[in-house]
Order: sequence, then structure tokens, then C-alpha cells
Amino acid sequence: MSKTFDVVVIGAGPGGYIAAIRAAQLGLNTACIDEWKSASGGPAPGGTCTNVGCIPSKALLQSSEHFEHAGHAFADHGIGLKDLSIDVPKMLARKDHVVKQNNDGILYLFKKNKVSFFHGRGSFVAADEEGYLVDVAGDKPEQLRARQVIVATGSSARALPGAEFDEDRILSNDGALRIGGVPKTLGVIGSGVIGLEMGSVWRRLGAQVTVLEALPTFLSAVDKHIAKEAQKVFAKQGLQIHLGAKINQVKVGKKGVAVHYTDAAGAECKLDVERLIVSIGRVPHTEGLNAEAVGLKLDERGFVAVDDECRSNLPNVWAVGDVVRGPMLAHKAEEEGVAVAERIAGQHGHVNFNTIPWVIYTSPEIAWVGATEQQLEAEGRAYRAGSFPFMANGRARALGDTTGMVKMLADAKTDEVLGVHIIGPMASELIAEAVMAMEFKASAEDIARICHAHPSLSEATKEAALAVDKRTLNF
Ligand SMILES: Cc1cc2nc3c(=O)[nH]c(=O)nc-3n(C[C@H](O)[C@H](O)[C@H](O)COP(=O)(O)OP(=O)(O)OC[C@H]3O[C@@H](n4cnc5c(N)ncnc54)[C@H](O)[C@@H]3O)c2cc1C
Repeated sequence: MSKTFDVVVIGAGPGGYIAAIRAAQLGLNTACIDEWKSASGGPAPGGTCTNVGCIPSKALLQSSEHFEHAGHAFADHGIGLKDLSIDVPKMLARKDHVVKQNNDGILYLFKKNKVSFFHGRGSFVAADEEGYLVDVAGDKPEQLRARQVIVATGSSARALPGAEFDEDRILSNDGALRIGGVPKTLGVIGSGVIGLEMGSVWRRLGAQVTVLEALPTFLSAVDKHIAKEAQKVFAKQGLQIHLGAKINQVKVGKKGVAVHYTDAAGAECKLDVERLIVSIGRVPHTEGLNAEAVGLKLDERGFVAVDDECRSNLPNVWAVGDVVRGPMLAHKAEEEGVAVAERIAGQHGHVNFNTIPWVIYTSPEIAWVGATEQQLEAEGRAYRAGSFPFMANGRARALGDTTGMVKMLADAKTDEVLGVHIIGPMASELIAEAVMAMEFKASAEDIARICHAHPSLSEATKEAALAVDKRTLNF
């Protein structure tokens, strides 16, 4: 006998588990199915984000940043250290512990909010007048009947043709997060967020890291001034970045990996590395969902086809997160999850795609929201720009971290903030103010008139707002 639910969510990543919790909070009888297994075979809800994405990468970024500071920055503070070393297995164990805390936290929240959790693979069986039948294949097979279904099955790493992931020499994000010791040499194909974050972790710990990027420009989605600054800083840190590199062949040998590529000048080159991280994007994950059984439509790139409100082609079937169009970000998935749950409950869920922040957790961090200067130029929109360097910010000087700047773009006539771009310390936290300002359609002057604590990094945001109007308080 099947169990009947108002809502069945397939996938417990940030899109799915948040949708399930919100639906249950709104009084809907809700189930969530997820197939991720922990090392011991038990459930590990949280998806890519919790298990092999946002959370473990930030744990390793933190550990490696402590190591780098201890080796390079502490001396300036008068702190002496002898025999600095890194215990990689311990660092990885800490990361795993952080992941587990998050897995357990989600299971606790499911219980607290009365979400029924099923561990296994969810797949469509059939549709009838009452809704959808969904099978759960796992240790305890079940069949669920759902009045509404939310597909939140996420994404997986895109492999380079001819260089399948073996998670030993050729690594996806999964393998990159559990290299057992610091490799002497590490190659990274793709200079996107994941490549830069993972490359930074292992560079800080002592690996010689070379990044090969196919595009001729570095971080092309980032505001051009911020990207230029980032490229300069990363090169100074020792990250070797080759743009315009066309990969011809990847060969795995006993001792490592040989990457044959043509460089931007057309020369044939070879890069020999102990390990290679391939981070060339992610693909939607719909394998095992049995979308065909009910006629769920996928688009030409394999994403579940949805409208602006995450409705699929089928009545009462929704999809959110990485498996649908839009930025592959955990908080975008979460926002969509909440909005869909609210729509199912008859409320007016809303996601503002213009104010989704982006963050690259390198050091310095890079964060932005809204339009870049090159986008405004391409649109022909009249704008004013203001920027302020952390070099002139008292808190940044006290921290000993004065790299970077805050840059603000505002409409030339109305002064409405159109974009804010930050490279520097704690950019991931600072960007929240800009998101809030843009959500409330603030002008640059509004931000300039808000009292910011002193000394704080956020004063740089205020100064950037003042600079839009060619003013400053700092000099
Ligand atoms: C290394 C790395 C670092 C990242 N860092 C950040 C970051 O700092 N900030 C950020 O915003 N984003 C980051 N991301 C992206 C972020 O992880 C994703 O955008 C986010 O996880 C998408 O959430 P989701 O719920 O759509 O899918 P996922 O998190 O992929 O979850 C999908 C879940 O569905 C399950 N599933 C799939 N099919 C089935 C099925 N048929 N039955 C049952 N279960 C199924 C999967 O096992 C998985 O648990 C990072 C990604 C990576 C790889």
C-alpha cells in the first residue's frame, strides 16, 4: 500500500530540504526522498552543498587559510611559530565532522517539522487523477503517492571527454575535497569558482598549482576591474593561470597526469601534474528519476524545463535548484524551494533573480550582486561608478588585509544602485548590505547616509557609495 502525501520532494539538497521544511511548516503533509549515502551507508541529506560542495570546501578553505596565515602573516603580529606542519588526515577528519553536523542538523529539522524522510532513490512510476506514484528504491523500498511533487535532484560534475573522473588522479569536486596528502603539483582545468577555491586550498598547503582556462578572459562573469585585480593577486600568491588553453589530451600514468594543450599563442604545451582537478561546470542530474514515465519535459541541455515560477510541463510537478535553469548556487536553490512550497500552499512565493549574490571564497574573497560595469556598457545604460580601496580602511589595516576594494555602480539619473562588486576581506559578509540595499531599491546616497560602525570593513561600502557622488569622508 502506498503512503499518501500532499507534497513529495525528490532530493534533499538545499533546494529540496528547505522546500520540504517550508511545506511542512505551512501545514502540508510532506515527504522528502534522498539517496546520498554517508561513508557508513546511512543517510546524508544536504546534497552536493553539504556533502561535497559549499560546506566541506569552506571547511578546507578555513583550515588552509589558518595554515597560510600561521606561515606568512603571524610574524607581522609578533607571533613566532616553530616547526609549522599540516596534518592532512586530521584536517580532512575535521571537514568530515563539519559535514556530519550539517547532515544531522537536517535530519533533526525534518523530525522537528514532521517531514517524513525516505532514504533511497526516488523515481516516477505513473500519474493518475489523484496525483503521482513515486517509488523509493533503497534499504526499505516504499511507494509514495503525491498530490504535488518537487524535483530537486541537483547537479553533478561535468567530465572532460576522454578524461573520466577516477577520483584518484583525475578529480571532480568530490575527490578534490579528499586528497589524502598535499600533492607536489596540481593541475586545475577551469578557472571558475570551484577550480579557484579548490586550487587555493591545495596551493596554501604547499602544492604548485597550475590552472588551465579555455576562455581568453579571467572570470568573465565578474566585473572587469575586480577580475583584473583578482588575476593580479592570485598570480602574486603563486597560482599559475594560463588563459586561452585548449586541452587536447589527458593521459594518466603511474606517477601522475600529463595534460597536452595548445596555449593562447598556439604553441603545443604539456603540463605534468601529480593530480588533476577538472572543474569545467556542472550538469543537471535527472538520472534515475524516470522522468519519461510521466512525460516530465527536459530542455535541450537536460535541465527540467520550468517557467519563472518553477512549474514544469506537468500539473503539480515543480522543480528547483541546480536541476533547473539559472545560477547553480545553494541560496538560489533555497529561495526557489521556499517560493514553491509557498505557491503550493496558496501563497505568493517570490524570487528576485536580480539580487542573488555571488561569492568566490578565495583569499581575498570576491562577491557581487547586480550588474557588472561591462553589462551596463553593453546595455548602453548611463551609470556612475564609485570605488574605495581597503588600503584606506582602518579596520582592514588593523586586520593586516588591505587587498582589494568595494565598487558601486548606480544609475546616472536616479542614483539607484545597480551593482556592487567587492574583492577583499570578508566580501562574502559585506555583500549582504548591498543585496539588502538593492532589494529595497536604495540609491547610492541612501547607503552613504546610513551610519556604519567604525572601524569596520563596511565603511568601505559607504565610501564607495560616497565615491559614486565623487565624495569621501576618509581623506
Ligand atoms: C565544490 C563546490 C563548492 C560549492 N560552493 C558553493 C558555495 O559556496 N555557495 C553556493 O551557493 N553554492 C556552492 N556550490 C553549489 C551548490 O552546492 C549547489 O548550487 C547546490 O547544492 C544545489 O542544490 P540542489 O538542492 O539543487 O541540489 P544538490 O545539492 O545537488 O542536491 C540534490 C540531492 O538530490 C539527490 N538525488 C538526486 N537524484 C535523486 C533521486 N532520483 N532520488 C533521490 N535523491 C536524489 C542527490 O543525492 C542530492 O542529495 C558549490 C558546489 C561545489 C561542487
